[in-house]
Amino acid sequence: MRKFISMVARDVRELLYPVICLVCGDRLRDETHLCSFCLDHAFEPANSEGNDACEGLIMPEWIRMQDSLWEFDKGGFLQDVLHQVKYSGLAALGVTLGRQLGYKLRRNRWLTADMKTVLLPVPLHPARKRKRGYNQSAKIAEGVADVTGSVIADEKAVIRVKKTRTQTGLSARVRRANIDSAFRLQHKELFRDEPVIIIDDVITTGATTLELAGLVRKHTDVIGIATIARA
Ligand SMILES: [Zn+2]
Repeated sequence: MRKFISMVARDVRELLYPVICLVCGDRLRDETHLCSFCLDHAFEPANSEGNDACEGLIMPEWIRMQDSLWEFDKGGFLQDVLHQVKYSGLAALGVTLGRQLGYKLRRNRWLTADMKTVLLPVPLHPARKRKRGYNQSAKIAEGVADVTGSVIADEKAVIRVKKTRTQTGLSARVRRANIDSAFRLQHKELFRDEPVIIIDDVITTGATTLELAGLVRKHTDVIGIATIARA
């Protein structure tokens, strides 16, 4: 009986903490979900040159920074990893990726320990959050905060009022219309005039994040947008 219990316990543990890297399939030691080799080498690094880091993503002048960890790989491993963070309950993986993003923001001097910068994860509609259990952008922000010492904006500061349709497959124009006034600034005083960096998982046209940035900018300085992937 005892043997059976310990076997079940091991199976449950393996289920909760996968022991195999999601990308290469190698056995993990003290890592979770991704091995450190894949974390460093599996995905294509995104360049970071101010606010015009990539063609196709048009940023307004007042956005000083758009930085991402990696280039999005449609149909590839990164897409799968981000999908798992969002839909398979791998919140801890979101934090791990966030830490990597935090290191990059630190290297590029967008965040240092003596800066008073607030991280604002793109809010999720309450109904979505209930269903998913967490906001993946907030998990990424947690990781960024972990390694940079930045604070995360109070969840009540900005809320998402519109449950937007999924953006995939829509043209840039339709996307912009789709997210029109999706957010509401509920407690602007929670930003205390500190500069904000918006955190998200993927930036595609930037429509969602720019709408959020435009709203927050009326009350405090928005430095820019940092994401795990840039599509
Ligand atoms: Zn691996």
